[in-house]
Amino acid sequence: MGGRVRLFAGMMLSVTAFCTVALLACAGGNAVQAFAGQSGETKQVQADQTASASLPLSGMVIAVDAGHGGYDGGALGRVSGTPEKTLNLDVARRVERLLKEQGAEVVMTRTDDYALCDEDPPIRKKLQDMQRRAAIIVQAGADVVLSIHMNEYAGRSESGPQVFYREECPAGRLLAGAIQEQMIGQLEPKKARSALGGDYYILTLGVPSVLVECGFLSNEREEALLLTEEYRERVADAVVRGVVRWVELPGEKPEPLEAVDRSGEETA
Ligand SMILES: [Zn+2]
Repeated sequence: MGGRVRLFAGMMLSVTAFCTVALLACAGGNAVQAFAGQSGETKQVQADQTASASLPLSGMVIAVDAGHGGYDGGALGRVSGTPEKTLNLDVARRVERLLKEQGAEVVMTRTDDYALCDEDPPIRKKLQDMQRRAAIIVQAGADVVLSIHMNEYAGRSESGPQVFYREECPAGRLLAGAIQEQMIGQLEPKKARSALGGDYYILTLGVPSVLVECGFLSNEREEALLLTEEYRERVADAVVRGVVRWVELPGEKPEPLEAVDRSGEETA
């Protein structure tokens, strides 16, 4: 009896080994984990899947808009001359990565150094650029819009990150307040600003939206900070922490104002 059992067990072992190799060859490491049957590895895979479904931003689509681009450089670093568009894109990419780590699906309005308008459009270049950004956001069905910018001012002393929301929009105000609070807490700016209502095209699409001015390129100290990767990572981290805080606020969130009707606006 003992001999037959050993023989059977040996055959099973060789079949198992063959299948594992075959699965590895065609489907990579996950297949091996799935094939492990009732082992602890399978339980770990299941646990990971459960965890990713319950990440703070799971199920959310978030639009990240890197301000300016291409012909439109935006503000300029007073000392370095670095254009705002470059720093915006870098921070936006960091925000994208961190949002994904929290479970969000992210749509970027631009992914390189270009404007979203034609060379010589029949309407204002800036308007066409904004229309196309808006189209990307609306088409993606974004639940939230985060527009990333750097500030500047004629005087050199102004500093500090500041988050803007659509004037009178209670949804944007709540989101902006949560992000502003994290930016102050995480970045400890010399000047702690308050979130502010403002009039920006990108904030008028009918979803909770904010425009984040990460800091002043006209302020020597803040420009130097924004030129370091370490600080830009902290800025992005503060923005994402703010979004997570906002999501986790108890109670029902206020509705955003309706999208501005632009049907009468010039179209390309
Ligand atoms: Zn800007």
